[in-house]
Amino acid sequence: MAPNPHPGPGEETLDAVVVGGGPGGAVAALCLARSGRRVAVLERETGPHFHVGESLLPEVEADLARLGLAERAAALPRVPKPGVTFVSAAGTAPGRPLRFADALDADPQAATNTEREPFDAWLLQEAADGGADVRRGVTVRGIERLGSGGVRLSTTQGPVSARCLIDASGQATLAARHLERAGRGFRRNEPGHERTAYFGHFTGVERSPMPEGGHLTVVMLDEGWFWIIPIDDERTGIGVVLPAGLAREQRVKPDRVLAWAIARCPEVARRTRDAAFPDGNRVAADFSYRCGPTAGPGHLLVGDAAAFIDPVFSGGVSIAIKSGRWAAEAAEASLAALDRLPADASDAARAAAFRAPGRRYARRLAASHRVLFSMIRSYYRPAYRDLLHHGEGPLGVHRASLELLTGRAFPRARFSVRWRMVLMKAFACVQEHVRLVPPLPRWSLVDDGVGGAPAAGPADGPAVAETRPPAEPPAQGRGRIVSSASR
Ligand SMILES: Cc1cc2nc3c(=O)[nH]c(=O)nc-3n(C[C@H](O)[C@H](O)[C@H](O)COP(=O)(O)OP(=O)(O)OC[C@H]3O[C@@H](n4cnc5c(N)ncnc54)[C@H](O)[C@@H]3O)c2cc1C
Repeated sequence: MAPNPHPGPGEETLDAVVVGGGPGGAVAALCLARSGRRVAVLERETGPHFHVGESLLPEVEADLARLGLAERAAALPRVPKPGVTFVSAAGTAPGRPLRFADALDADPQAATNTEREPFDAWLLQEAADGGADVRRGVTVRGIERLGSGGVRLSTTQGPVSARCLIDASGQATLAARHLERAGRGFRRNEPGHERTAYFGHFTGVERSPMPEGGHLTVVMLDEGWFWIIPIDDERTGIGVVLPAGLAREQRVKPDRVLAWAIARCPEVARRTRDAAFPDGNRVAADFSYRCGPTAGPGHLLVGDAAAFIDPVFSGGVSIAIKSGRWAAEAAEASLAALDRLPADASDAARAAAFRAPGRRYARRLAASHRVLFSMIRSYYRPAYRDLLHHGEGPLGVHRASLELLTGRAFPRARFSVRWRMVLMKAFACVQEHVRLVPPLPRWSLVDDGVGGAPAAGPADGPAVAETRPPAEPPAQGRGRIVSSASR
């Protein structure tokens, strides 16, 4: 077997080291440990911690079932999520509930909304129970060496060496930044997707009766969108995604943007009129980027460490879990090839051990990103949103869109879905010029449109004329302000 040729004196060499104990890292480590590999997860947080992203796709359930974890996942506190409801921010048209059960695939899985703190902690514990060495409270400070000869990390607990690195460090994108500095890789912001999200947990938000009460609601705005996610009987996650810089232009403090946006959005203001608001909001910025190469001699990038663009279709956790599984398969294949080499194998021979599994991994991940990112780009076209909201179309195009929304499209949607999506995009082009379906009432948080009415829609759109709610964040009396400790 060819070990890591350059460990420090007295230093152990693992088969694989995983940086980051989020869903991607936990699943990669679990799978490698199950294959009998010596794998450690280095996670900088000492215990369960907040993470945004409570709305999970049906495909997450399917992947958990593939991993044999479905039963234990069902014991977590979760809200069943049978679909997604799209609604205009103007508050003048009823929302359009889309049910996963109506997807093209006749056998849809249920989905759930889950608070990430217990979900992520549980998945990491599964990795530990499965045999991975989970080291919490260990921050990776840098990568000292990375290549076909293995990896050496400097951490707050001393150096760690392994035969390969799985980077699941999320938006920290540890390996991509290292490779970029070394001139061997890149981390590029995604042009046209410069957005910032402002979010928090509320109580007392108005909900529809179940089962629709469990839907993810996407409230569509000219500038972006709100999410409304029921995460348990009491709490609802609400967030708004806006162009980066908009809050600054409007002179709204970052921690007040969510309340400011809600006060200007009739649909969300109505649903939260009796709600307890969080004391300020959390902020996520600079989250649209791609990294590469996603696989190379000695490394694989998983989940957000590889790419992220926009959370509108809730694909992040699904791609993290899938890529964690695929990365473990690729790492296992490379390690098995390294095992067959003599101890004095050349660097070229070691590099060859990573090549084929790495290529397959990179292809699968790139294909998944293509599907998800194309859906996201479509969403930001108002004409596409009109069609999505309309909920019906010829030849099952909406049922195909729904199949994409279940996540059963990674790495590649079925042919029956793909051709329908081409058709849906063609319909969106037509809708931009000729009205195929009634355009949605549009709403802008900042543009008063014509005569104080919502932002102007297509010329033949319905005339909607309500008064905009007050531009100021809600006063203390509007929503009870709860302390940050109770968030
Ligand atoms: C505003 C917003 C809303 C979202 N909403 C959703 C949603 O509703 N549904 C959904 O599926 N997805 C959503 N996402 C995306 C989703 O949260 C991520 O895609 C998902 O968490 C990625 O998982 P991961 O394992 O790749 O990374 P993460 O979950 O981010 O895990 C990375 C881990 O690495 C650790 N780490 C980082 N650097 C180091 C270091 N140097 N040393 C040691 N440890 C380190 C971190 O502490 C963290 O635990 C959203 C994202 C955003 C920005």
